[in-house]
Formats: sequence, C-alpha cells, structure tokens
Amino acid sequence: MPLPWHRDLWHHWWTLYEPRQMPHALLISGLPGIGKRTLARGLARWLLCQAPTAEGACGQCHSCHMVEAGFHPDWHWLIPESEGKAIRIDQVRALNEVAQQSAQQGGFKVMLVAPAEAMNAYAANALLKTLEEPPQDTLFLLVSDQPSDVLPTIRSRCQQWRLGVPTGAEPVQWLARHLGNEDEARLWLKRTGGRPLTAWKWSQSGTSSHLQQLFEALEAVAFGAEPTEQATRLTDIGLLELLNHVQDWLADALRMAVAGPMSVRDDERRPLYQQWLTLAGPRQLLMLEQQCRQWRQQLVRNPNAQLLTEQILLAFSQVLRGTDAHA
Ligand SMILES: [Zn+2]
Repeated sequence: MPLPWHRDLWHHWWTLYEPRQMPHALLISGLPGIGKRTLARGLARWLLCQAPTAEGACGQCHSCHMVEAGFHPDWHWLIPESEGKAIRIDQVRALNEVAQQSAQQGGFKVMLVAPAEAMNAYAANALLKTLEEPPQDTLFLLVSDQPSDVLPTIRSRCQQWRLGVPTGAEPVQWLARHLGNEDEARLWLKRTGGRPLTAWKWSQSGTSSHLQQLFEALEAVAFGAEPTEQATRLTDIGLLELLNHVQDWLADALRMAVAGPMSVRDDERRPLYQQWLTLAGPRQLLMLEQQCRQWRQQLVRNPNAQLLTEQILLAFSQVLRGTDAHA
C-alpha cells in the first residue's frame, strides 16, 4: 500500500511501467521523513512482482512472498554499514558485478541506493560507469535527502523525482490513524514541519525531551551562556539527531527570513528564529547551515561526541554573540 500522499506518483509509475518506459535510474529526493524510502521500496516490490496491477504488487506471487520474507535474490541494497557512515567503493563494485548478471527470477533487478549522498567521490564514480551503460531490465533506485551532494553526473543519468512536504488532510489522517488522536497528529506534524514519518518517529521516541533540551541549550547560548557548559546538557542526544534538528531549525529560520513568520509551522520556535535573525542575520545563519553539512561529513570518522557538540554550540555562540569560538 502506498502512502496516501504518494498516490499520484504511484499512478505515474504505472503509466511508465505498462508501456515499459521506466527509466534505468530514478533519483527520489526531498526532505527526510516524507516517505521517500517507503516509496522506493514500494516501486521495487512492484517491479519484482510477477503479476503487478495498476494498484501495485499483487502480494500473492512467489516474488511478493520472497520480498515479504525479507529476501529476494534480485533486490539489492547499497547502504552504509551504519547510519551516517559512507558507502564504500568496494560495496559499489560488488553491486556493479551483480548488475551485469541476469536476474535470477527472470524478471527485473532492483538496486536500491540510500542515501545516495553517502557515496564518496570514488564510490560515486564507480557507480557512474554502470549508469552510463545500464544493464537490461535493471532499475537503480537512488534515494537522497541532499541531492545537491550527489555527484552531478550521477544526477544527470537519473530521472529525478523531487518530493515536497505533503500537505492537506492526508498526512494528518495517516498520522492520526497511527497515534489514535488527531490533535496529537497535528501537534507532531507542526513540530516536524509537516514530515509525517519523522512525526511518527519522534512521537514514539524520547525526541520530545531531546528537542526541548536542544532548544533550551541554543536559547541559553543566544543569551550568552557558556557553550561548553551547555554542551554537557546534550550528552543524551546522538550527533546525527542533533545535527538533523539544528539543520532543520536553521532551514526554518532562513525560510522565515524570506517568507515571513507564517512560513514556519511551529509557532513555539518562531521567537528563537526571530532572535537568531536579529542577532546574526540570514547570511550568517546560512554559513552555520553550511557548517552543519561539514560536521555531518565528519560523522563518518567517529568524532568525539562531546567535542563536536561543544564545537557546534561554540559556532552558534560566535555567530550570535560575535564572540571568538577559538578564544
Ligand atoms: Zn506479486
């Protein structure tokens, strides 16, 4: 079953599938938490199904059963060994080899690459060679939160689907069905900028308290608190989660600078963004946002969490208070 806000894409896929006009490579991009991987998995399952219909995979055939059991010999994944790590060139080489072989079930092969930006330059170039001479009956499905970090030559080899944040009643109804409460669904969607899968995840984890801790630490830093001291309050939050939140908030603040306060769905955070914009201005916030991308890249090298958290808060302090982070 597709996510309700992906039905149009689902139908579009069928219009490509039936006359066999699918691309060799598809890049699905958009913000985290809007269902890109769910969509990619759905398309993969559909393509491998032996009796697909306009509604998707049949759910009854041998292929569908193998997919459900978690193993299909023609479905291959290219993912980092753990979250936040890079996809290595030897992983790509192994995938390239499989891509050249014919499908074991006699149908299509699906290569799912996620997140595509996790490929370093060597890995990306190795994949590019295969995309330039695509093997028959093979679909490369690339998923990316940051398509601008994917090698441009790879992007140009892919049909690109850029997914926006879903709007309207569907995401609210979907989340309300999971949470059993529509008010709560609206609240979590507000907190996550309308990203339903992130909203679901956050509602089920300790994210609520993490958000509060981070919010308070950043607010304190803006008011002149000592960054290293504030960093000790954030030891429960993983670096990837911390960077995700910080980057989200900076993006929100930048959007607010351009499109006004109503463009930010979470009214609780508007005062913080306003404060950032007053103290630092959009240009400086944009620099911080770019710095976040660099910190994110450092995660592959297992940095010291405490030190990097301090570094992040120091950078905020420097930008917001005009203090020297290296003093
Ligand atoms: Zn089937």
